[in-house]
Amino acid sequence: MEKIRLGKTGLKVTKIGFGGIPIQTPPEEIAIRIVQESLDLGIKFIDTSRMYTCSEERIGKAIAGRREDLVLATKSASRTGEAVAADLETSLKNLRTDYVDLYQFHNVSSEENLQAVLAPGGPYEVVRKACDAGKVRHIGITSHRLSVAKEALLTGCFETVMVGLNFVNTEAAEELIPLARQRDIGIIIMKPMAGGMLEKPALAFKYLQQFTDVLTLIGIARPGEMAEVIRIVEAAEPLTAEELKDMERIREELGSGFCRMCNYCQPCPQQILISAIMYTPVALNRFDPERIFKGEWDKFMQKIPDCIDCGECEKRCPYELPIRERIREAGKQYYAAREAYLAGRR
Ligand code: SF4
Ligand code: SF4
Repeated sequence: MEKIRLGKTGLKVTKIGFGGIPIQTPPEEIAIRIVQESLDLGIKFIDTSRMYTCSEERIGKAIAGRREDLVLATKSASRTGEAVAADLETSLKNLRTDYVDLYQFHNVSSEENLQAVLAPGGPYEVVRKACDAGKVRHIGITSHRLSVAKEALLTGCFETVMVGLNFVNTEAAEELIPLARQRDIGIIIMKPMAGGMLEKPALAFKYLQQFTDVLTLIGIARPGEMAEVIRIVEAAEPLTAEELKDMERIREELGSGFCRMCNYCQPCPQQILISAIMYTPVALNRFDPERIFKGEWDKFMQKIPDCIDCGECEKRCPYELPIRERIREAGKQYYAAREAYLAGRR
């Protein structure tokens, strides 16, 4: 697999990196197999986070004996020096290593967050000291808000930046990526498939191949998926006219204010699965009705009336989506479609 230089870190990384979110879900032995399969295919960059429950531990088990060959990245979403120091120690233990190549401040998506990270004696200073102690090699930042990511880059404190980019969410390509290039900051792309909204890896990765100097993370949930992504990336075929049309259709279908399924709006005190509900209007057009109107999907749609209007989710959403209005609207569409479906079957 082709390698790129990750900005001023000087790290040489494969163009595709392993994203550690989805391996939280399958049974542990499958999760370990998914990681090892990716390594066998030549992937040399693995990204995880203290936020991703068992992901670090599973990766630690999967990379046993192969750590030296890899660039390992993890993150902390803590905002005090003390908590970040504790997170780093836990990550090192979970990953079964004595250093991480890249330590990132996770989801720094507000001005307040950025100031907390950079506060005297705070997270940034703690991680700088960890660099001096050899526990961390490079420091990066991740954000879901481009204005904050841009401000972070301008501080000169970070060697990498991770932001979302895909063919329905292209804003990062306008200002942020050129700025990072100008400052020689390594660019890491998350959500190439818009957090699961885009189902066709060929469209997603063919769009991204124009960014020749970025590292793209892909979260893999099933054995075999990474091989498909690598095949597309290595073939480097241009988008066909039909694929371009398909991309246009998907863009129109999703609109601009779509939910990225990042789940930063959680926890909801009423245990409402916001991202799944936000996805429902799209799912109604794409999935088998049996899957939508029966079983788990129906159960979480029934939770919509439990919303107590507290607005906590909206304060946390980095994309400022009107969540309450959207879930109510999704509920209406769902029940209308369900009724029509059931009437047709009577
Ligand atoms: S406004 Fe509703 S959906 Fe949002 S966190 Fe509160 S209860 Fe949950
Ligand atoms: S509503 Fe906002 S925070 Fe919640 S999953 Fe969607 S984009 Fe993320």
